[in-house]
Formats: sequence, C-alpha cells, structure tokens
Amino acid sequence: MLSGLPQTVDLYRLAMAGESHAGRIKESVFKRLGSSVRQTEGWVDVSLQFGEEQGVYYLRGSLAGEFTVVCQRCMNPMDLPVDTRFLFGFVRNKEEESRLPEEFEPLWIEQVEVDLLAVIEDELLLALPMAALHSPTECLVQIDSAVVNEQAESDRTTPFSVLAALTRNKH
Ligand SMILES: [Zn+2]
Repeated sequence: MLSGLPQTVDLYRLAMAGESHAGRIKESVFKRLGSSVRQTEGWVDVSLQFGEEQGVYYLRGSLAGEFTVVCQRCMNPMDLPVDTRFLFGFVRNKEEESRLPEEFEPLWIEQVEVDLLAVIEDELLLALPMAALHSPTECLVQIDSAVVNEQAESDRTTPFSVLAALTRNKH
C-alpha cells in the first residue's frame, strides 16, 4: 500500500486530519483485475487527498497507469492507459446521502475500518472498459468498413423500412 497508509484505514480520521498521500501501487496487487488484464507488471500512480468541505468528509483521488489487456476482436495484447479521478463523500445513512452535494459520489461507510485498497480497485475496475478493442487501424483483424455499414443497415430494419421497400418494389 502507499507509504504511511495501512490497507484498512479509518477514512473519517484521515479526513479530519486532512491527510494527503501519493505513491505507486503494483498492478499485481489488484487481484480482481486479473480476468480483464493480461499482464500486471506495471504500476498505478495513486494520489489521495482527504478532507472536509461543506460538512462532508471526502476523499478526492486520481489513478493513472497503463494496463495490458486483450483486444476482444483480434485477441492480441493492447496497451490501455487509464487515467481516472474521483471525489467521494462519505455517507453513513440515507439522510447523509440525501444531503450530499452533487459533486460528490457517495461512498457508504459501514464500519470504522475501510479497506482502502478495495475502494481503489473498484475505481480501477470502473475505469477499465468491459471489452477493450484496438482502434480499427491498429487491430490485427482488418474490418472491411463496407461490410460493417451493410450490417448496420440490415440491423436497422423496422416495419417502416419494410414498407418503404415494398413501396419501392411496386415501381
Ligand atoms: Zn485488435
């Protein structure tokens, strides 16, 4: 974990103290990324800032790293940069949640000690696409754009387009 921070922390205590932490975490630490990420040899740059604002205890953070994932079209590895930011407002009940200003995303605190690594991993999972694809020019499977367009046309068949086709056939 980040220097000076254990894996489980009291988020309120950190927010009251206004602590900031920054550092790097090995990608291999995030076990749940396993299925979507092919190699986990890199690092994630993590920056966390705890504080209080408008009566809300919060965690503001950013995560940046480069992952190697599998392109779901050609099944070859591709580099995927991830750069995400978040602003969590801590809530313990519905009332606190309803009062939370819009800029905060609610982070439910159900016990004093929170697994901070799990919170960070959730954010990484959200930032990674469900199905990563190379851009068409980089992918090893060449897409014939004409075929793609035709496919899109036929998928768009509606009762009205059938009608239009019938009308057209009359002439
Ligand atoms: Zn590809």
